[in-house]
Amino acid sequence: MATVDLSIFSNPSNHSFQTYDTKATAEQPWVGTKFSVYDSDVEVRSSDGFIFQLHRVVLGVTTGAFPGSELDTGAEVVQLTEPANVLGIIFAFLYPKEHPDLHGEIFQVLSAVAEAAAKYEVFSAVHVCNERLVKFLPEYAPEILAHAVKHDYPRLIRATLPHFARAPFIPVLARLPPSYVVPWARYHEAWRSVFKETVLYIKELPRTAPISSSCHSSMTHRPHHSICPTCVAGLYELIGRIQEIETLPALHEALQSPARYPYTALTCCRHSQRQGSRTICPFVEDVIKLCQDKIKKIPPFATFLGIKV
Ligand SMILES: [Zn+2]
Ligand SMILES: [Zn+2]
Repeated sequence: MATVDLSIFSNPSNHSFQTYDTKATAEQPWVGTKFSVYDSDVEVRSSDGFIFQLHRVVLGVTTGAFPGSELDTGAEVVQLTEPANVLGIIFAFLYPKEHPDLHGEIFQVLSAVAEAAAKYEVFSAVHVCNERLVKFLPEYAPEILAHAVKHDYPRLIRATLPHFARAPFIPVLARLPPSYVVPWARYHEAWRSVFKETVLYIKELPRTAPISSSCHSSMTHRPHHSICPTCVAGLYELIGRIQEIETLPALHEALQSPARYPYTALTCCRHSQRQGSRTICPFVEDVIKLCQDKIKKIPPFATFLGIKV
């Protein structure tokens, strides 16, 4: 990447120019356009000391919040809080040339660019950032959700929400803003209740007489009939396993086709009667239906956060 060493500019008419002890490098964003250092009329310093020599006319028309021609900065250098590698990307969105696509940026840089784009209202950069942030799901779901809610990006919020459904409690908690802690705990509890209530339901199913070893002794056996210890053990195993599934798509898949899901320990007294049979225990079908109904009733995380998307 071509970088501009400020020491090569010695424009005597530019009184605000000063040497700055910095190792920060960046490309002046106007490189390759009709703009140049000679018509630059505003200087912006990054937090790490690199000076961008910009053009008010450009800032004024391409951003919502940068100092444009209406702002008299005198001969002062405008000090910003972002480092040069972030500002360099943001400024590149302002000038009439191909915009950065942000492919290959690590999350930390991308999120800093996204934050600056929102802060300075560089809308073309906001759009590209949001497109790229989605690629960092589910790994950075907490950070992306907080960013999307803060700046009100409904599409980004919607893309992020499903990743919270089965996400582990503590790791997510540690990365959400403080105001999300209670909503997150409540949402997590709503999910936990689904499995707790299902276990309670299994516990309360009428049991077969202790003497009988099998509950499916006839083909007319129905879930509301009594259940044997083998099938009870199978149901507990099932709930234990689906509870451990960490993504919503995998959970839905497991619930939709339990026969295909490798419940190696899922046994039924009917299976032991017919070797190798994969017929689903009617109690399993019943309990899965119960789980699905309860899951459908859990409001999305957005509801717990009190936001509409
Ligand atoms: Zn049974
Ligand atoms: Zn059974």
